[in-house]
Amino acid sequence: MGAKELEQVWANMARAAKRFDGDEREPPKLIAVSKTYGADDIVPVIEAGQRDFGENRVQEAQGKWPELRAQYPDLTLHLIGPLQTNKTKDAVALFDVIHSVDREKVARYLKKEMDAQGKNIPLFVQVNIGEEEQKSGIAPDHTVEFVRYCREDLGLDIQGLMAIPPVGEPAAPFFARLVELGKLAGLSKFSMGMSADYETAIEMGASYVRVGSAIFGARDYG
Ligand SMILES: *Cc1c(COP(=O)(O)O)cnc(C)c1O
Repeated sequence: MGAKELEQVWANMARAAKRFDGDEREPPKLIAVSKTYGADDIVPVIEAGQRDFGENRVQEAQGKWPELRAQYPDLTLHLIGPLQTNKTKDAVALFDVIHSVDREKVARYLKKEMDAQGKNIPLFVQVNIGEEEQKSGIAPDHTVEFVRYCREDLGLDIQGLMAIPPVGEPAAPFFARLVELGKLAGLSKFSMGMSADYETAIEMGASYVRVGSAIFGARDYG
């Protein structure tokens, strides 16, 4: 798994992008989700030209990315998993984009820590689009107000919305709902789509797709 699969994903993305018939937008970007995989698996994917990578745990990312970034200074690293507030400092130091702003406390901690480090990292608000009990994210009904709070009260650079639709249901209606919410909130970037549904997500307007197993293979955990 690795470079060959990456090229297949790129090709599928390009085809799906042609089927998108919304307003003009930048071509969707691929985030290669490398969680649970180490440098030996990641390096061939970097060498094949991939530059955006995603991790869901701050501590795991700290163990492998500083060295890889020193070797490849032009990488962009995305945090796609839940952020514990006691990891905010490390997350702000390591990541270039954070996709998982999922509650007020996280937003406030990020603001404080970014001020301390002199940064204003691009952020996505994670929406609990399927309104699932066990999933993190802002409730759809509260999303517009939460985005307003983050932007106006805290001055955060909110770029768009992120969601993980419920497992075992068609994803398209949830992607559509996320795009609707984005319009209401004045946002036009969407972080949506994983290995099973990234083409659908792109057809519906995704700006970032987060693809792991289709590139790196099935994970043992994560
Ligand atoms: C693991 C993960 C992905 C990638 O999942 P695949 O099904 O392996 O493509 C995408 N988004 C988030 C938030 C993840 O945790």
